[in-house]
Amino acid sequence: MLEYKAARYGRTLTRVDRAFPSSQVCSACGHRDGPKPLHVRVWTCGRCGTRHDRDWNAGVNIKHEGRRIRAAAS
Ligand SMILES: [Zn+2]
Repeated sequence: MLEYKAARYGRTLTRVDRAFPSSQVCSACGHRDGPKPLHVRVWTCGRCGTRHDRDWNAGVNIKHEGRRIRAAAS
């Protein structure tokens, strides 16, 4: 799943900082919810209550971060 996403977002991934906490941030409200053990596949945001699929949420965050970086560079 992660390799699939890496291929899909390959260009962006090379530019997003490795420390970017894509699995910790709520893609709905931007709240940084803290580290999730790898076995946690689904979690609920502590601020807005949105229920997230871990990989889907991380993919959304990486896409947003990639767009933010590209926008800042242009
Ligand atoms: Zn949230």
